[in-house]
Formats: sequence, structure tokens, C-alpha cells
Amino acid sequence: MTALATTRSSAELIQAEGPVLAHNYHPLPVVVSRAEGAWVEDVEGRRYLDMLAGYSALNFGHRHPALIDAAHRQLDRLTLTSRAFHNDQLAEFAERLVRLTGMDMMLPMNTGAEAVESGIKVARKWAYEVKGVPADRATIVVAAENFHGRTTTIVSFSTDETARAGFGPFTPGFRIVPYNDLAALEAAVDETTAAVLIEPIQGEAGVIIPDEGYLAGVREITRRANCLFVADEIQSGLGRTGHTLAVQHEGVVPDVVLLGKALGGGIVPVSAVVGRREVLEVLRPGEHGSTFGGNPLAAAVGTAVVELLESGEYQRRAAELGAVLRVGLSELVGEGVVGFRSRGLWAGVDIDPGIGTGREISQRLMREGVLVKDTHGSTIRLAPPLTVTAEELASALATLGGVLRQDA
Ligand code: PLP
Repeated sequence: MTALATTRSSAELIQAEGPVLAHNYHPLPVVVSRAEGAWVEDVEGRRYLDMLAGYSALNFGHRHPALIDAAHRQLDRLTLTSRAFHNDQLAEFAERLVRLTGMDMMLPMNTGAEAVESGIKVARKWAYEVKGVPADRATIVVAAENFHGRTTTIVSFSTDETARAGFGPFTPGFRIVPYNDLAALEAAVDETTAAVLIEPIQGEAGVIIPDEGYLAGVREITRRANCLFVADEIQSGLGRTGHTLAVQHEGVVPDVVLLGKALGGGIVPVSAVVGRREVLEVLRPGEHGSTFGGNPLAAAVGTAVVELLESGEYQRRAAELGAVLRVGLSELVGEGVVGFRSRGLWAGVDIDPGIGTGREISQRLMREGVLVKDTHGSTIRLAPPLTVTAEELASALATLGGVLRQDA
């Protein structure tokens, strides 16, 4: 154990943030100062089971030894070159990521939103150069209640007023259809459509899982309309649902897959657009880029992440422990839980609003040593690290049961 990084208390640190930190988040009042595996510790040394895992950025838990080791080794050799030069880590990362995902090429970026932006740009360029859409007429069809990030273009097609209000004027060229509605999608695509961009499971919306056949239907509609199927797997991908990609539950292969979060192993921001050669090939030197995208530290960590997933162990754990999670949540239905949706180690749990808001339940869980995050209204989201043990999962579910039985 190293020395505590600060001499200030949690309460003092929270108070200190107020005047100097933009108020774009409303965090739970816990100040984390160290972490290992599925556990985090606050400034006062209280321990919490992390059932959020950085919104899936920590699929392999905090400070996974193989990932930390890869980062340390790379930190001692080379951290940044920019893409003005080649670095000796990027080729292997790209080769192994495209093999893992069954794609041909990859474009390295950093944050999830950048991967989405890059996917949009690539899809538009493909529409003009390959499909033959007239200049500046390309459209992209997206789903209502989507969450793809926070940039100006991405919030342009959000249906969440909190995410949009005050940030216009917005980027044109998007059509919004209801999620999980193939007839609406079919009606929205036409000769101007570059792509259909959807989350295979809508995470921020509350872990909304579409009906069986929806993803295959999207694949079929996009094939018929000669437009791209772009799957945003930034939260659903990389083992979370029991497969490497959530689209694999329906055996579907999109044209483009957007990855982020867990690709950086919880250490550095790493995202990527992976896709068919015909699509990513539309980019030529100078047309798109990022100073940090594909940097050697990110590539070394990303390769180590891919290596963990190549073993299949984490996908297996997510599937097996996901069954345990499902059983545990089923037992809480009627006991304060009104319903839930889950796939692998990922669940949206609707709490009886009479018991409390999602925020209130999250706070009560925090006081009992379990960290989760609310989404909308009375829904909380569970997304533990895929390294969580069955015992830890059982203990978190027991704590949730206890909290739901407490008087509000
Ligand atoms: N896409 C999806 C599906 C997400 O869940 C998120 C973040 O929650 C993003 C994109 C944006 O990622 P980032 O916050 O790294 O920009």
C-alpha cells in the first residue's frame, strides 16, 4: 500500500470541487482514492464493491495485473509519437483487434464520442464515394433514446432534452426512428441513407434489449437499402454481454463496429472504429486524425485487452455470472424490484418508485458499501467488472435486497 494521496477528508474534497469544477456531473458523494479488482476504497479507507465498473470501461476490473504490467512496460519505453511517425505497437494492436472482431481494418481514436464521430464521417464519405449519394445529402438513421456521446454533432440526434438544450444549432442529416421498430426503420431508409447507427443494447436508456430478430432485421434492411450498419458497441462490447460483441447474440455482422471504454483497460482512453475494408478505405491522408489516437501506450494497453478477450474467459464469465445475476434479480421482483432487463453481466433494474428514485437507491447502496448508478427515474444500472466473483455478486444482490426492504 502506498501513502494516501491526500490529507483532506472526503467531505473537504467534495466541498473543494464546488467552486472550481464545472458542474456537468452529479456524482455520488464518495471520493475514491484506490482500487483493486472489483473493489474501491475511499479516502477514509471504507471499501465498496464497484457494481458500475466505469460504465463498462473497467470490464477487467481495476488495475488488472496483465494490463497494468503492459502499461508499465510501455511507460518505460515509449509513450507518444503522434501519427507523424510509426510506432512499434500499433500494427499488432490493429492486427489483433480486427481478428478478434472479425473485421478488416481499424481506425484508432481515444474516447467513445470520437469513435462515433469518426464512424459518422466514414459513413458519409462512403455514401458519397461508394454509394453515389449526391454531395451533402447523406442521411444517417438513428434510434430514439440513443446515447452515443456528448459532441455537438452527437447531441444533434439525441432525444434527451437535457443533453441538447442550449447547445444548438445542431448538425443536420439525421433521422430518428423508434428503437426496436423494424417497420419504422424500413420506412426511414432511402437512397440518401449512408448508415443506420444503433446500440445493439441501449445502455444509458436503461439497458434496453431489443426483441430477438431486431439486429438481424437491421442487418437485412441495411443490406437491401445499400447502406451501412454501424453498431455502437462502446458500452455493450468487449465481453460485457457474454460475447465479444453484443451483435453476436444474433449472429449478426455489421459493416462498422464502434469500440471504446474497456478497450483502454481502465487505464487510458482508447477507442476504435473497426470495419470492412471497403468502408475504412475511403479515408486518405489528412482527411481525419487525432494526435493521440493509436499512441504506443494506448496500443500496448489495447493489445493486452485484446489478449484477455482472445482467451474467451471474460465472455464466459459474463455469460455464467450473468445467469447468477438474472436469478438473483428475479428473486427481488415483487420485493421492491418491479422489473429488470439483463444480458450477461449487465442489468437495468426498475425499482418501485414508492421506495425511492434511482438516485436515492444508489445512495443507500453506497452507504451499505455497493456502488451503482441510476439512469432514468427509478432505474439503476448494474455492470460489475467481469472479474467479479459469484460471492461478490451474491453479496451485492443481498445488499440490494436489504436496501429495498428498508423503510424509505
Ligand atoms: N456510445 C455509447 C453506447 C456509450 O455508452 C458512450 C458512453 O457512455 C459513448 C458512446 C461515449 O463514450 P465517451 O464517454 O468515451 O465519449
